[in-house]
Amino acid sequence: MSTIPEYIKCLIIGSGPAGYTAAVYAARAGLQPVMYTGMLPGGQLTQTTEVENFPGYPLGIQGPEMMEDLRQQALRFGTEIRTGYVTAVDFSELPHKVIIDDEATVLADAVIISTGASAKWLGLESELKYQGSGVSGCAVCDGYFFKGRDVVVVGAGDTAAEEATYLAKLVHKVYMLVRRDAFRASKPMVERVQSTPNIEVLYNTETEEILGDGVKVTGVRIRNVKSGQRDVLPVTGFFVAIGHHPNTEVFRGSVPLDSEGYIQTIPGSTQTGIPGIFCAGDAQDRHYRQAITAAGTGCMAALDAERYLASKDIEIWKQLQTRL
Ligand code: NDP
Repeated sequence: MSTIPEYIKCLIIGSGPAGYTAAVYAARAGLQPVMYTGMLPGGQLTQTTEVENFPGYPLGIQGPEMMEDLRQQALRFGTEIRTGYVTAVDFSELPHKVIIDDEATVLADAVIISTGASAKWLGLESELKYQGSGVSGCAVCDGYFFKGRDVVVVGAGDTAAEEATYLAKLVHKVYMLVRRDAFRASKPMVERVQSTPNIEVLYNTETEEILGDGVKVTGVRIRNVKSGQRDVLPVTGFFVAIGHHPNTEVFRGSVPLDSEGYIQTIPGSTQTGIPGIFCAGDAQDRHYRQAITAAGTGCMAALDAERYLASKDIEIWKQLQTRL
């Protein structure tokens, strides 16, 4: 392990829309930000195809291309972008200590956590094969491409219920695959699903295989876990909505997390329970999870960090902490 720690004024961990937006604002404010990209430079959007709902792109843009634009914008104002993964942190004293790749130690006055979240997947090989070609983890992102078609939504929680009702407005028919004989979603959400005429709920049903022609999805083979009966649903879209998990494990015990592992921030700000530690994007957002909301909170985090670094006013911070 490297013995000489490096001092950084503003460290950004993670390189999705939240991280890059924080970098643009922090760099323009003269905070000389250094960003560590994490395992998936560019974040979840590098795994999608077309993004049509990010304001400012009237003709849409490919996810990877948008992330490259954001990267270039962050570089333009002087952000130092490094490949590296945070493997340990110690936020118990100032400056905060962060270990990169089990090797390098950096000491930072302010840290912006923007490590995002990852969609959970079923783990089928065919699911991986057709990702972006019929398999999706986000109805709001990709639903439009299935206008007038038949699709499957897997899951029975609030996310699945929300995705199914969203898709039902666009597509011809939604099959909802529920693995047990009951929903996990809240009662009003279940009622919404059940009162939507073009959603058919298939209980006790699991996905055996996503079928395709080698290029795109053409159907889904399902199995009733009670009767053992198999069927094929002729759909072109397969939406997995079995939950997300925030990428925050490395921060457990160092910043307050909620019961699902999302980092808790003071309402209306990006401040965590620790002075100088800020969080933006999906790592703190279980609800909206959109590129634009992540970018918005990235901007907030840079402004909060700038203010904190300017004042280092721990008393003000302590007052804010009591609102957490
Ligand atoms: P949840 O963990 O609540 O639900 C996940 C669902 O996926 C469960 O029904 C689970 O089934 C099912 N599932 C898990 N693994 C598999 C699998 N391998 N095959 C098939 N099904 C599977 O996640 P959500 O993302 O739905 O919700 C996360 C949190 O966010 C919740 O607290 C929720 O209330 C909240 N939320 C609130 C919203 C709102 O208020 N508008 C909108 C979206 C989310 P099983 O039930 O059998 O375990």
